[in-house]
Amino acid sequence: MVRQVFTGSMIHADEKEEVTFQDNVAILVEDGKIIDVMENPDQQKIDDFHADEVNNSSPGQFIVPGFIDCHTHAVQFPNLGLGFNKTLLDWLETYTFPLERQYTDQELAEKVFEIVVKRTLQTGITTACYFASLYTEASTLLAEKCSQFGQRAFVGKPNIDVPRDNGYYESTEKSIETTKTFIKAVEQIGNPLVRPIITPRFALKCDMELMQELAEIAKEKDLHIQSHIAETEDQLKRIKEKFGETTCTAVYETAGLLTKKTILAHGIYLEDSELYTLAKRGTAIIHCPSSNINLKSGLCDVRRLKANNIDVGLGTDVSGGSSYSILDEMRSVLHVSSSLSLTGHDNVPFDYKDVFCMATLGGAKALSIEDKVGNFMPGKEFDALVIDLNAENSLLDNFRKYTLEENLQRFMYSGNDHNIVSVYVKGRKVK
Ligand SMILES: [Zn+2]
Repeated sequence: MVRQVFTGSMIHADEKEEVTFQDNVAILVEDGKIIDVMENPDQQKIDDFHADEVNNSSPGQFIVPGFIDCHTHAVQFPNLGLGFNKTLLDWLETYTFPLERQYTDQELAEKVFEIVVKRTLQTGITTACYFASLYTEASTLLAEKCSQFGQRAFVGKPNIDVPRDNGYYESTEKSIETTKTFIKAVEQIGNPLVRPIITPRFALKCDMELMQELAEIAKEKDLHIQSHIAETEDQLKRIKEKFGETTCTAVYETAGLLTKKTILAHGIYLEDSELYTLAKRGTAIIHCPSSNINLKSGLCDVRRLKANNIDVGLGTDVSGGSSYSILDEMRSVLHVSSSLSLTGHDNVPFDYKDVFCMATLGGAKALSIEDKVGNFMPGKEFDALVIDLNAENSLLDNFRKYTLEENLQRFMYSGNDHNIVSVYVKGRKVK
């Protein structure tokens, strides 16, 4: 048994999604699980806990829950920052699919995935949902890297069975077979923090038979599901050409892919009837504002999604997104939200607290893992970041004493990953 104590200032979103600021707490952790959070703690009680490790924060430091990146493509990291003079379809064909096709090369996979996991952990992403490659070996390697470096992760081997010129697809049978092999391989790693996730790439890239089989596998194994939805207006037309007069949500519903454990990236162009279905199924939308802007896909009205009782998490969506830092993504959420209200949308822009919640508890709820992570309620696992606004290489100077609320704003708007001095996943220090 390992016991840890963390003392200092703490910020998190409580169960009502209200962001609370506490100047003096002690968090007691046993084998990675939060046992108690004491406000203005009694030193005797801390001593009685007989911790193996006591971590006292310095002035200017505060503890927040780990960030949750609900949508990113590990395979696309070599293309970071490339191709934004194009729109989605052109970008996919010119840059993305040709790169993804290269992951039959294990050396490339090894090199890229090691960097991906290390770098995302450095930026405070304690939970990541990854799209890996069509190829089982490479995808398994990503899961192994997550396990090795201690990241909580959902790793998906994408399925594509619609034939493409460059050969980046599998037959329906092969796609199902390799998915089963991949799931087994991830299970064999034996790390409960790293789970396989069923990953039909997108309705336009998969036939109904494949999607139905994948939904069956998810049901049998009680797995999460991830895919894309309503990213561009053009897709809506092409969905109708492929599946008849219908919506993408209806296609996924028919396939059986919409569950409480399903997350769908983008969701910009959803009809009201689709919102109703998604809410009924408990399926979440992952907001990827940086990618949506870079590829000129659109501005997602997240207030509308939330008003329709849909959980919303955040996704960096590399390499449609141009940064793997969820801090950057949070700023994009704020910019898009303000832009929408400036261009006549009848809603109040999000503020820093809304977005902080979205990157932590919001992501946990979207993934239905809020019983495990997202905030510091006792019983949950200790996924946390220590933020230090006096850190070396920080872009911030401390001209006066700032309140905890002010420091969270300063970190979110003007901080960088140098301000994230320690990262913990289930109590294990990973930075
Ligand atoms: Zn994506």
